[in-house]
This record gives sequence, structure tokens and C-alpha cells, in this order.
Amino acid sequence: MIMIKDRLIKTCLAVIPDEQSHYAISPEIAMTSSFYSKSYEAYVAASKDEFNNYVYTRGSNPTTHKLEVLLAELEGAQRCKVFASGMGAISATLQSYVMNGSHIVVVNSIYSTAMKFIKSLEKFGVSHTVVMSVDTQEIVSAIQDNTDVIYLESPSSQKFEIVDLKAIADIAKSRQITTMIDNTWATPMFQRPLESGIDLILHSCSKYIGGHSDIVAGAVLGTTEGVGKVEQNGYLMMGSTCSPMNSFLAIRGIRTLPIRMEKHNSNVKAVIDALKDDPRIEKIYHPYIQQAERSEKYLDGYGSLLAITFTDKDTTKLQTFINTLETFLIGVSWGGYESMVLPGYKFDNLETMKARGLDITHTRLFIGLLEAQMTITDLKQALSIAYD
Ligand SMILES: *Cc1c(COP(=O)(O)O)cnc(C)c1O
Repeated sequence: MIMIKDRLIKTCLAVIPDEQSHYAISPEIAMTSSFYSKSYEAYVAASKDEFNNYVYTRGSNPTTHKLEVLLAELEGAQRCKVFASGMGAISATLQSYVMNGSHIVVVNSIYSTAMKFIKSLEKFGVSHTVVMSVDTQEIVSAIQDNTDVIYLESPSSQKFEIVDLKAIADIAKSRQITTMIDNTWATPMFQRPLESGIDLILHSCSKYIGGHSDIVAGAVLGTTEGVGKVEQNGYLMMGSTCSPMNSFLAIRGIRTLPIRMEKHNSNVKAVIDALKDDPRIEKIYHPYIQQAERSEKYLDGYGSLLAITFTDKDTTKLQTFINTLETFLIGVSWGGYESMVLPGYKFDNLETMKARGLDITHTRLFIGLLEAQMTITDLKQALSIAYD
């Protein structure tokens, strides 16, 4: 596995030159709703091309634009549009690519709110098929004549399984189907799906890109035309606009993205090495120990979000384990400095867990930036107290 490419490291660390802000090292925050024009004629010209001129921050903003240029450079995309949240980007992009009568193929277990959004499109006459597999043949057989979108998350939420992106992209292209991937888990440091022929990339910048658990933001990336369709449809009208302040914080997060991702990568490997033969752990879901060939093909490193199941199915012991962890915070979201733990079982949702193919003890771990040895010591003490 190659590690982070020099080109990406340079891009993250490069100062964004800006004559207008007196070459400030840190970019200016254009905290404004509106932009005025110096003349009637200039206003008319700007308002006719709102995405390439500054008219109103719901259309574009200089600070957010700097973030868009940076993300596009990292993913190797022509164009990027930043949103107020990952879901803002996902919902606006999906709704821009479907119409009444469309069909979406959803691959494997995707982010749960994205799944809810796709279900909600039924009332507008958009149907979908969920393929609970990463087998290319199974995915292809779900394609219908009216399939307009194949929606992927790879590695996927819950089981962190990898799709053969190139195979799917080739088939989709031959049938004029748009492929979309949620690349939040890997970040462009570790996976650049446009290189495999995927059409559009989605990100929740609330995770690794922000990197400090202090913002909610999202992005879509692709060709000028591909993202342009989202700008014209879902972006301006649905109004999920990122605050310039949050765009600034995302840019600041990106400065340390390569360093943080290297640390997450080495930490998660050390934690998995320490847990993989532990008899109290039944299974670990993470690309470091599954699908070696596809990991090698698509990933330059490993994100540190994984899931485990326990050999002992007693949920009281699971409760003790979660409550005994000292270095993990209990809660949703991830991608910051702190480690997070998220149990799947909520005392009354066994049926839904079963329907999603999840074991009652399925627990998500996010390995933060703490030294791996301290994380391992903590996990082992909690395992001993709960399960021995
Ligand atoms: C968090 C997350 C989202 C949603 O992003 P928000 O910024 O919370 O709206 C989408 N996909 C994945 C994989 C996520 O982890």
C-alpha cells in the first residue's frame, strides 16, 4: 500500500495566494451575505453567472470558493461545490440527477440518513433497489432500464466493505448511468474515486476534513458539467449554504489532513493487530483485515472507523464494556482528535438491526489521535472488566 502522495501533501500545506487580502497566510473570512457592484452594467453581468461571480453567499462566497478549489485539487476534480452539511450535498446531488420514474441502485449499507432520503424520494415517483453486497454481478443485476443513478459508499458504513469501483463505473458508463460515491471514510488522501471513473464524489466535511469536531459541512465534486447540474438544480434552490466561517475552519482542517490521516492509519492498524486474536472479540469489520485485493487496488491507507462484534452476546456486558472505556466518548460522528464509540443496540431495535444484517453486539469504534498504545490499554481493560 502506497502512503499519501507528495502532490496531496503539498496541496494541503500550500498557502492560497490572495493579492486582495495582502497575502495573509491564513485566508480571509468573507463574512458577508451579499456583494455589491460598482455599476448597473457590472451587476447585470455578475447576476447572469452567479456561480462564477460573487453576488450572494447562497450562490458563492470567496472563502467557500477557496475551500472548493482546494477540495477539487485534492480529488482531481474539475469542480467542487461546498454545502452546509454532508446531507446537504447528498440530498441536493441525488435530487438533481433523478426525476419522476427514475430508479436508484443503492450499494450495500450506506449512511443511514442518506438511505432515508432515498426512501423519501418514493413519494416523487423515484424507486430504488438496495443491493446488500459488494459483488459486482449482484450490483449489475439490480440495474433496470430506468436506473439513472448507482449510489455507493466504499468502504461502506457498518461493514466497511469495498466495491470494485472501476468495474461498476465501466458498466454504468456504457449504460449512461451516473455513479456517485460517498468518500468520507477514506478522504482524498487515501482514495480518489474519479481516477476509477466514478462520476461524482460526496463528502461530509464534518468528519476528517474539518478534523476537530467543530463544523458540519459537505461537498460534491466532479466535472464542471456534472457539478454544474447540481448547482443549477439542488444547490441554489435548496439553499444548504456553508457558512464562510465553517469553510475557513475546513480549510484550516485540511492543513493537517495528511498528518492526521497518517496517524489514524497507523493507530487503527495497531489497534486491529492488538484485537484481532482476542477471543472476546468475534469479528472486526475493517479493510485492513478483509478484501486484501480490493484494499490494495483502491486504498492508499486506512481510515480509522471500524466495527466490532463480541463473542459473548450478553447485552449487559456490552453496556459495561461501553461504560468502562475511558478514552472513548460515547456518541455519533467521528473524524476529530477524540476516539468515539457507538453501540448499534439501543435496547429496542433488535429487529431493525437484524434486518440490516447486524449482530446485536455490533459496535462502531473511531480511533482518534491518541497514542495507539493508550487506546489499546483502554480497550483491553474494558474487555477484561466486561467479559472476564
Ligand atoms: C456523517 C456522514 C454523512 C453525513 O454528513 P453530515 O455532514 O453529518 O450531514 C454522510 N456520509 C457519511 C459516510 C458520514 O459519516
